[in-house]
Amino acid sequence: MLEAAEGVAIPITTITGAKPGTALALIAGNHGYEYPPILALQRLRDQIDAATLAGTVIMVHVANMPSFLGRTVYFSPADGKNLNRVYPGRADGSVSERIAYAVTKHVIEAADYVLDLHCGDGNESLRPYVYQAVTSDDRMNAETARLALAFGIDHILIDRNRPTDPAASLYCSTTAITRGKPALTIESGSLGQSDDESVERIVHGVRGVMRELKMVAEGPPPVAQPVYLEPNVVLTSPETGLLYPLVERDQKIAEGTPLVRITDFFGEEVAVVRSPIGGVVLYVVATPPIVKGQPVGCVGTPR
Ligand SMILES: [Zn+2]
Repeated sequence: MLEAAEGVAIPITTITGAKPGTALALIAGNHGYEYPPILALQRLRDQIDAATLAGTVIMVHVANMPSFLGRTVYFSPADGKNLNRVYPGRADGSVSERIAYAVTKHVIEAADYVLDLHCGDGNESLRPYVYQAVTSDDRMNAETARLALAFGIDHILIDRNRPTDPAASLYCSTTAITRGKPALTIESGSLGQSDDESVERIVHGVRGVMRELKMVAEGPPPVAQPVYLEPNVVLTSPETGLLYPLVERDQKIAEGTPLVRITDFFGEEVAVVRSPIGGVVLYVVATPPIVKGQPVGCVGTPR
């Protein structure tokens, strides 16, 4: 247990292999209502054998304990902040900032590669995909692309809009990348579910990455036919009220398709949010509460 702040502990497992090799960090629970990543690490902890491992696996079982135990979507009950928007954190900050600081110092800075494991949050109906960040550094881009293929999820969102300042990296995976460590953000699972398929997809992906990094002798092969998504767009709500989804996750849509409709608290329609691009619905918010400015969905165009 790593003490991040007064009364806030982070459960961490470090498996040191018998042979030297790469240090891979697996981080679950930056969002505490996202369960498949947390459950996948419970399985991987039993499956990884130190006797045959080359290198080190560092697992953060639940990064955001206040959100996990408080069962909150996006925001910590301790300070109202989204942990995955406050990296690299502050030693003297709020609870979320202290957690981010502890993960940065003790996990990310100790790793060579980082996988930040997510799924659709409690309100998001999501199909599996991976964020592959693109930077101005070709070597980093090649490493990140290799990791993305190794993880085994075929839908890969090309993300060119991540911060470049290591002191204001905001996201967990960007904190790694801005410190020279290739990293991915993984999305597998949806709507507060703990389904076996979403959990096993993460277990499978981690084993693929461990094979690619030569930490284990065998593992799943890389994706043979990746679907790169670019352009892509996160749509946000222009109003606060009740949300009704009009599409399903993984639905193929044309430009201009209405994604969600928003009503006021008396049922009067106040907005319809349409996709400015055609493509695949990666996620759509599928529970009623919606606040102005929050995401309602994400669409990516296969290129
Ligand atoms: Zn998340």
